[in-house]
Amino acid sequence: MALPSASLARRCFIAGNWKMNKTVADSLTLVRELRNAISQVRDRVEVAIAPPFTALHPVARALEDSNIALAGQNCHASDSGAFTGEIAAPMLKELGCSYVILGHSERRQFFGETDAGVNRKTAAVLKAGMLPIICVGETLEEREGGKTLSVVETQVKGCLQGFAAAEGAKFVIAYEPVWAIGTGKVATTRQAQEVHAHIRALLTGIWNADTAQQIRIQYGGSVKPDNAAELLAQTDIDGALVGGASLKAADFSAIVKAKG
Ligand code: PEP
Repeated sequence: MALPSASLARRCFIAGNWKMNKTVADSLTLVRELRNAISQVRDRVEVAIAPPFTALHPVARALEDSNIALAGQNCHASDSGAFTGEIAAPMLKELGCSYVILGHSERRQFFGETDAGVNRKTAAVLKAGMLPIICVGETLEEREGGKTLSVVETQVKGCLQGFAAAEGAKFVIAYEPVWAIGTGKVATTRQAQEVHAHIRALLTGIWNADTAQQIRIQYGGSVKPDNAAELLAQTDIDGALVGGASLKAADFSAIVKAKG
């Protein structure tokens, strides 16, 4: 049986990663502005924001009765224990998170995050009743060395190992070329679509075509209001993970509204 067209089957998902920005007061101001700006966007696009841990509780309250979901930026693989400075998945769930970003390139680069670690954290996130946004992507050196597809393949396989298709179907993958994050350099639509299609083929191999067609693959890396529409129009780009532009309500809401 023919599969439904990708753009019809998968709901566009735009997530904002605030990283280590915004005090509680600043967070609440941004949430107020965002709620106003995207209150009309209901069914077409799913929206989530990932504030710093310190702002999750007040932001969760400020998001009540809104169409914006809450996400954590990271978590530990254990439910509790002697891990000073860490946050467990059940703690994020308790605060109202629906998603957790895992394996962001900044976590990989500055905090030694590995595919095996992301794999364990993914299990913790699922166990706590949330869904992972799993980040993969190549460095500039890897792209220039022609290694993009093999690097992404290793990351995808390592992070997703051992999960059943029924679990995998709900995962979100974020393809974020490291050279495009926070640099203002955006991948061309052709470069991004090529890797997204490759990831979907990998997902077909890991599980099956039906599961792969359900999984949303976000693009991340200098997404802005002026490039979002073109990126989101690509067959296998199902949303965006947005860093810098998610810190301004006008920019983030313009990206949310960019899906035609
Ligand atoms: C990110 O941090 O996930 C990201 C994509 O950042 P930026 O949009 O600033 O490139």
